[in-house]
Amino acid sequence: MSTTPAVDAATLQTLANGFAGRVLQSSDHDYEGARRVHNGLIDRRPAVIAECVESADVAAAVRFATANGLEIAVRGGGHNVAGRSVCEGGLMIDLSQMREVAIDAEAGTASAQGGALWSDVNTAAGRHGLAVTGGLISTTGVGGYTLGGGLGWLMSTQGLSCDNLIGAQLVTAAGEVLDVTDETHPDLMWALRGGGGNFGVATVLRYRLRHQPMVVGGLIAHPIDAARDLLRFYRDAVDSCPDELSAFAGLVHAPDGSGMKLAAMLVFHTDLDRADAELAPFLEFGSPVVTQVQPMPYPVMNSLLDEGYPKGALNYWLSSFTTGMSDALIDTVIQRFETVPSPMSAILFEHFHGQVTRIDPTATAVPHRSKGWNLLLPSEWMDPADTVNNIAWTKETYAAVSEHLAPGRWLNYLGDDQEGEAIRAAYGPNYERLLAVKRQYDPGNVFHLNHNIVP
Ligand SMILES: Cc1cc2nc3c(=O)[nH]c(=O)nc-3n(C[C@H](O)[C@H](O)[C@H](O)COP(=O)(O)OP(=O)(O)OC[C@H]3O[C@@H](n4cnc5c(N)ncnc54)[C@H](O)[C@@H]3O)c2cc1C
Repeated sequence: MSTTPAVDAATLQTLANGFAGRVLQSSDHDYEGARRVHNGLIDRRPAVIAECVESADVAAAVRFATANGLEIAVRGGGHNVAGRSVCEGGLMIDLSQMREVAIDAEAGTASAQGGALWSDVNTAAGRHGLAVTGGLISTTGVGGYTLGGGLGWLMSTQGLSCDNLIGAQLVTAAGEVLDVTDETHPDLMWALRGGGGNFGVATVLRYRLRHQPMVVGGLIAHPIDAARDLLRFYRDAVDSCPDELSAFAGLVHAPDGSGMKLAAMLVFHTDLDRADAELAPFLEFGSPVVTQVQPMPYPVMNSLLDEGYPKGALNYWLSSFTTGMSDALIDTVIQRFETVPSPMSAILFEHFHGQVTRIDPTATAVPHRSKGWNLLLPSEWMDPADTVNNIAWTKETYAAVSEHLAPGRWLNYLGDDQEGEAIRAAYGPNYERLLAVKRQYDPGNVFHLNHNIVP
């Protein structure tokens, strides 16, 4: 039986009047599906789900929630591991029906509705041979992802996703609809490029696109016994690689469900003429058990890892930038991976170089612009009985590598229990300016279910 407090029918009718989408409560058939987000660990029950289909619905939902004292959660793609897109009680503004993407091929721009997924943008832009930096997998929502910075395969040639954000339609805490650009609202536009969901609901996000029809990329996997040599090779190989070549590496499990541990590199090249020569050292290293590197349309590359991250799997992630990839850090992660409890979990090194690192740390809200690595521990499992063990392993692994970590944290990867210092480390030196923008546009902290900048 539901324990979610209902909002009385007469009050709810004031929202339903003129609302083009659907208003769901726990008694409605589609409520269960609508409240579920990517991370199966998150189990919250909003009192009301406002399933919006247009910006006017979002504005009406914001005004209704504030008038009735309901806490607001905003669901874009619902991918956030922290689960901040769904609230206990309160009102969930659900953008999952707002996934349209319009491409202006001549101008080289995309307009994506706030609930679109990267697969939606990739498909629409790919028809014109265009692309923009999106998530490493294609089921991530564009909304939370871009507002949180957005790292991905194309960042070494195009920068982060937020570096390519040229405008947004934003519903503010007052329920107004603003058209935000560098010209109309420079401070707010700056804050949207990495300041998270703190400033309003982005109902449309506009991106600059680049010509990128095809890429060369894929997986090179070695036996786990080769992990030390492979990670050392990888560290040295990416040190001088050109912008067009990106490579991430780590300790993973075979995708066939066998539980076999592997040491792997994921490589990516945006220039088909140079890819063979420049990827050769990666392909020729050691004795791989799997080599699946080939030319493919960018949208295909962007969906290669999707199956490894199914909706409803239980997720607990920790991550931080590192001070480098020393031999000692490599040895520690190899040792920790020996005891990893779940055959879905991994330890990943995400390399930052090229265009993403050429942007001034204060030019957008994302300060992380140094060359180097983000270390990600994306722990994932299916059985709730394994939760305690998996979270403990992730925390112990993070503690074991802590002496090798730099102060910066990647905002998009922060979990539900990472507040305070972790949020400061994510916004870094941009926190004070973000605070000033927050005070101007949301002084009452209406939008606080995010990695919150408390006004
Ligand atoms: C499997 C997996 C892979 C990932 N890969 C990457 C990656 O490659 N690179 C990376 O940077 N991150 C990655 N992430 C992290 C991901 O980018 C963040 O979780 C991001 O918040 C997801 O966006 P979303 O819209 O799906 O999230 P949601 O869960 O819907 O929302 C996350 C936060 O953003 C706010 N929000 C969402 N949409 C809007 C909107 N339209 N307007 C205002 N606020 C909004 C929400 O209120 C919430 O606070 C990954 C996460 C997972 C689970």
